[in-house]
Amino acid sequence: MPAQPASRVPDEAHQPPDEPLWCSRCNTDKHLLVNSIQSHYPPAPNMVDVAYECHACRYSYRQIASVQKVAVVLNRPGIAQGVLQFGGQYLHCGEPMKTKSCELRRIQAPLALRPGDSERLYEIYINTRILGCQCGFRMEIPD
Ligand SMILES: [Zn+2]
Ligand SMILES: [Zn+2]
Repeated sequence: MPAQPASRVPDEAHQPPDEPLWCSRCNTDKHLLVNSIQSHYPPAPNMVDVAYECHACRYSYRQIASVQKVAVVLNRPGIAQGVLQFGGQYLHCGEPMKTKSCELRRIQAPLALRPGDSERLYEIYINTRILGCQCGFRMEIPD
């Protein structure tokens, strides 16, 4: 493998600093709750735009952080963070959930198209994706 020229700056140097999620008022990250995660723009691998709030002092923060840093807060036991959505990805346990399977679901719904019409049974087909987390959590979403 040829050696990299010394003058070449690694791509990491252009990435935003990866500070941990932290409440500087309480000087702890214990009370943080993640409110939203969005893809960072311009897209940097693994970096997200995260908004979070400190439970204790009610102060809100917003910063660019790596998924790993966000996961530190998300993975904390005791606080149910639920499912987070960002950039078309769903996070559970601080990790992007993986598509387990795709399903075509048939849904039947009684519907009256116009007021006064009698209801008819309509069939709708929707594509859904089953997402799974390593912890066993599963979720079905329309594709
Ligand atoms: Zn605080
Ligand atoms: Zn999980």
